[in-house]
Amino acid sequence: MAILVTGGAGYIGSHTCVELLENGHDVIVIDNLSNSSLDVLDRIHTLTNKKVTFYKGDLLDRTMLETIFTGHSIESVIHFAGLKAVGESVEQPNRYYYTNLMSTLHLLQVMDKYNVHKLVFSSSATVYGTGNLMPLNEEARLSAVNPYGRTKLMIEEMLADHYRSNQAWRFIVLRYFNPIGAHPSGMIGEDPAGRPNNLMPYVTQVAVGKLPELNIFGDDYSTHDGTGVRDYIHVVDLALGHIQALKKTAEPGYHTYNLGTGQGYSVLDVIHTFEEVNGNPVPYRVQGRRSGDAAVCYADVEKAKKELNWEATRGLQDMCRDAWRWQVQNPNGYQKARSFQSN
Ligand code: NAD
Ligand code: UDP
Repeated sequence: MAILVTGGAGYIGSHTCVELLENGHDVIVIDNLSNSSLDVLDRIHTLTNKKVTFYKGDLLDRTMLETIFTGHSIESVIHFAGLKAVGESVEQPNRYYYTNLMSTLHLLQVMDKYNVHKLVFSSSATVYGTGNLMPLNEEARLSAVNPYGRTKLMIEEMLADHYRSNQAWRFIVLRYFNPIGAHPSGMIGEDPAGRPNNLMPYVTQVAVGKLPELNIFGDDYSTHDGTGVRDYIHVVDLALGHIQALKKTAEPGYHTYNLGTGQGYSVLDVIHTFEEVNGNPVPYRVQGRRSGDAAVCYADVEKAKKELNWEATRGLQDMCRDAWRWQVQNPNGYQKARSFQSN
């Protein structure tokens, strides 16, 4: 019996594939490579000495999904595939709603048809509305502020409705806080297209000299140093959370869990830790606040600890060290590594 990983060539999916393979699972990946590279699969093979079965395909193509379910005995699905850029979702809401919702609906239809009812879904802390007390627990008020976040909320509701209609389903919804870092080997990591939107890939690109300086979006928040506070989580810890989530699908139900560390760090904390651990300066300039940003966001992680028997063990220093190793070994992500090999 295999685990089907949608979006398995992406940032979080690739790290999860490594942990799945190392835990003895057979892994099938479907990915349209719209935000990833085929090289990832070779890297996963090198790291684990095991191969995933790969289908280059789109979840919008139901026939492709049927082919996979016909050809394999699938036990569970981990569903990472989707579009994830907040700014782009504001500019192209139709594309975001269509891709993220239709992909998931196709998946649910085909899973049901082939009697596969275990699904782990990538949600996000972005589903928590503003005005909640910190730390955020899973019962906090939900409301998204952009189309991307609304697709996550809608999918959560879609899954809950499927469970209400058929209690054979086993849904584990994981709300990620801020995944950063890379596999400690430096072989796989985050490879954003173009200029990064998120903090850590921006920091590493400044440190390596690809970008001149980091813009800090606001230093007048009511936090310990005025800059925004987030709950950064090492991507390997996050990947391990999926292994535990899969175990939880042994029993029917619909469950949501925060995956974070429970610890908030400011933008300046991240910069200073990065500089300290890696010995590289990160020049920065303070700018105005970024529209839509919360001052503080961090997780209550007790539920995952108790019910999934999972907790993050890697700290901010590990995250900074591993993010930097990935950046240095792959100055231009997978693309550059490929041209290095061919030269
Ligand atoms: P990613 O873009 O690196 O990975 C997503 C993968 O899905 C990519 O490889 C892409 O090519 C593929 N894909 C996209 N649309 C597809 C489609 N229609 N059919 C087949 N493949 C498709 O993103 P990630 O950072 O690994 O995120 C994985 C999931 O976690 C996403 O659902 C994202 O919304 C969610 N998430 C990510 C973060 C984060 O900060 N990275 C935070 C919270 C939630
Ligand atoms: N941030 C920043 N400069 C950047 C990118 C992000 O100062 O170039 C800040 C942002 O305002 C927030 C934190 O870093 O306080 C994390 O931002 P990111 O986009 O990584 O995650 P999110 O805001 O989605 O939680």
